[in-house]
Amino acid sequence: MSFSLAEQQDTIVALATPQGVGAIAVIRLSGKDAIRLTNQVFFGKDLEKQASHTIHFGTIRDGKRIIDEVLVSVFIAPKSFTKENVVEISTHGSSYIINQVIRLLVKKGVRPAKPGEFTQRAFLNGQFDLAQAEAVADLINADSEASHAAALNQMRGGFSSEIQELRAQLIHFASLIELELDFTEEDVEFASRDDLRVLVEKLLRAVEELILSFDLGNVIKNGVPTVIAGKPNAGKSTLLNALLNEEKAIVSDIAGTTRDFIEDEINIGGVIFRFIDTAGLRETTDTIEAIGVSRTQEKMKTASLILYLFDLSDTDLVEINRDINKLENLGVPYLKVANKIDKANPELVKELKEKHPDTIFISADKKENLDGLKAKILELVNLDKFKTGNTVVTNIRHYDSLTKTRESLLEVLGGLDNQVTNDFLAMDIRRSLYFLGEITGEITTDDLLANIFSKFCIGK
Ligand code: GDP
Repeated sequence: MSFSLAEQQDTIVALATPQGVGAIAVIRLSGKDAIRLTNQVFFGKDLEKQASHTIHFGTIRDGKRIIDEVLVSVFIAPKSFTKENVVEISTHGSSYIINQVIRLLVKKGVRPAKPGEFTQRAFLNGQFDLAQAEAVADLINADSEASHAAALNQMRGGFSSEIQELRAQLIHFASLIELELDFTEEDVEFASRDDLRVLVEKLLRAVEELILSFDLGNVIKNGVPTVIAGKPNAGKSTLLNALLNEEKAIVSDIAGTTRDFIEDEINIGGVIFRFIDTAGLRETTDTIEAIGVSRTQEKMKTASLILYLFDLSDTDLVEINRDINKLENLGVPYLKVANKIDKANPELVKELKEKHPDTIFISADKKENLDGLKAKILELVNLDKFKTGNTVVTNIRHYDSLTKTRESLLEVLGGLDNQVTNDFLAMDIRRSLYFLGEITGEITTDDLLANIFSKFCIGK
């Protein structure tokens, strides 16, 4: 999918609120004829005579037939989301009304919008850069405090301004070096090679930091992959259900929430934990005994956190030490969680407190000390990292461009070391600039745009 110039001149319409029946629905139009065409079906006031950012009550009519009583908000270009004329019609939330209104507008010459077309217009009209446009999609999909904070930060330009500043500095050097190319005879040096090296090294550090932040960004967006490991009957599925049920209770306690509850995801302190291989858990397969088996080992390695769960009434220290050894070799952060404290062998509890003082004692069944467990989980993933407001890369496309930027910056450095000729140096710098520009949309191709905006839903 890509948009021709003619298509960008069209006035478009789409339902901006979710499909399905709500109290109200918002139908949005954008384009130069948005106000004029809405005016043809709206009765109550002359919309073309109204000021920007005003709301008007009236009816939508198909000829003499009233379809609905509505509120119409008017936004006059360029003071709108898309920087075009925008109209938002709030109707009653029946799908019949929504269809009738949209159909009527289409009859008048408005075109149904394609996925992401509103956001794409906002980007093309300079409302924000590409990274920010993508953040709009992330913001809409954010389902935890951390993912919301990362998307909001990016949408407000946090990430982009950093990239743009670095890019501007590099452009300055590129132009100086290209200027030197015009003076080859004279052997002048406008751009100090030492200063260039300092800048490129600074850029490299910034780019590498952003690349590293992707791991964290990924976790924010997709949840911390977590595994509960332990012998059969240790209480793994009881624990998972206890954690899930607590959250279900919280979610359904909030009046009017319609958010779908995602099975196997738990929100602890604003961070999403995604429990992997829970299907296997429910069949109570023996995860820890199978650590030696390479497939299970691979799966456990993809986790960022392992809850090692053991049954206090059915284990001894020898067995626990053996399991802990295996976990140490795996190299994934883990917590020692001793279950069934309600029927524990006191001797074992005493030994554990001596030998493994970091053990967390719980009862999954009686829901004892689950808060203590959650606190330790958060401690282990180091919540501070999520909340510093530091720039975090959450987007695989940005990660790709950053990786390519790093490669070309390293080539610039190599070129400086080997004292390559100016034209080679300029070329490598241009390549770095190109990849940095891809992130914010200073460099775009139709394919790239189509790819990004087709991931949005219609109406966004
Ligand atoms: P899994 O095989 O590791 O998934 O273990 P389950 O969750 O199926 O639990 C095995 C048994 O232990 C079930 O009968 C649970 O009711 C019981 N169980 C789990 N947690 C506790 C607990 O904290 N205290 C007691 N007394 N029993 C528990």
